[in-house]
Amino acid sequence: MRYRIEKRGFFVLLLLALIAASFYFYSLGTKGLLNQEQSEVDVVKEGKVKSESAKGQESVSSKKNVENKESVVFHKGNDLGNNKKPEKPLDTSKTEVEPVKQKEASPVSDTSGSKTPILTSEQSKAAYNNFSVVIDPGHQQKANLEKEPVGPGSSETKVKVTGGTSGIVTGKPEYVLALEASLILGDLLEKRGVKVIYTRSTHNVNLSNRERAEIANQQKADLFIRIHADGSTDRNVRGLSILTPAENDPYTKAIYQDSLRASQDILDETKKNAALKVNGLSYRGDLSGFNWSKVPATLVEMGFMSNPTEDKNLSDPVYLTNLLTNVADGIIRYADYKK
Ligand SMILES: [Zn+2]
Repeated sequence: MRYRIEKRGFFVLLLLALIAASFYFYSLGTKGLLNQEQSEVDVVKEGKVKSESAKGQESVSSKKNVENKESVVFHKGNDLGNNKKPEKPLDTSKTEVEPVKQKEASPVSDTSGSKTPILTSEQSKAAYNNFSVVIDPGHQQKANLEKEPVGPGSSETKVKVTGGTSGIVTGKPEYVLALEASLILGDLLEKRGVKVIYTRSTHNVNLSNRERAEIANQQKADLFIRIHADGSTDRNVRGLSILTPAENDPYTKAIYQDSLRASQDILDETKKNAALKVNGLSYRGDLSGFNWSKVPATLVEMGFMSNPTEDKNLSDPVYLTNLLTNVADGIIRYADYKK
């Protein structure tokens, strides 16, 4: 009898031990999953830190880093290029923006050596979460030479999306630099609470300039900003310029004033950066990406990739981040004006 009680007691203990052990292993398993998710974010950070620390190195390596980073950041999302309808990129871009948002305290600014504070005390008081910016990284892996109307109802047509320029020294295509820069700008804006949507987050897309503007329209963005770099047959030509809709452009009458204000604010901020050569504003009535936009639009030509110095500078993460900090400052100034 006593033996049986002891035996029963032993089994009860064994059962309790088993239950305890299974709880323990279950909690380990959950932790393991969490660690896995965090490590993806860490990889992103690592990629960024690497690309930041690649200052002064050949652009090839920084290009590699950008490509790495991209594949890590966006591997969960769908390729925008697979979507024919403009609605779809919106949804996928929303989900693709998510991982970028999760990168809290992203090292872009922390390791950039930028002297400009991300948040001034005045800015930190202000919340910009009602302000949304659609960032359009110019061009894409393959040009689409089909035509589309230059503006709503226009019989005049223009190529859907051109191939863009490339670096005279680095050999980097403009579409690669444009996305690299756009992601940095997006990070800087998100840190200030601005809602950021990208028209593309990979190179392998098929989005015309009209479709890019329509993404901004559908998002009812407060600002549509297009990121590009220039090219010239004259390698001595250099400098940053801001493109803004022309006053006499029939398609952009409604957005002319606000677009100009945003363009001017960005220009003024870039002028504060002694490392930049700033050329000024360029009024354009010939750009489909402006003409189809119903929301204020601006375009930053960050510099000339056909100029050896500027090409190398644009592949320097510190130079590029400082330039985009000026751009972000200009956007914040515009957001303040619109409040
Ligand atoms: Zn371009």
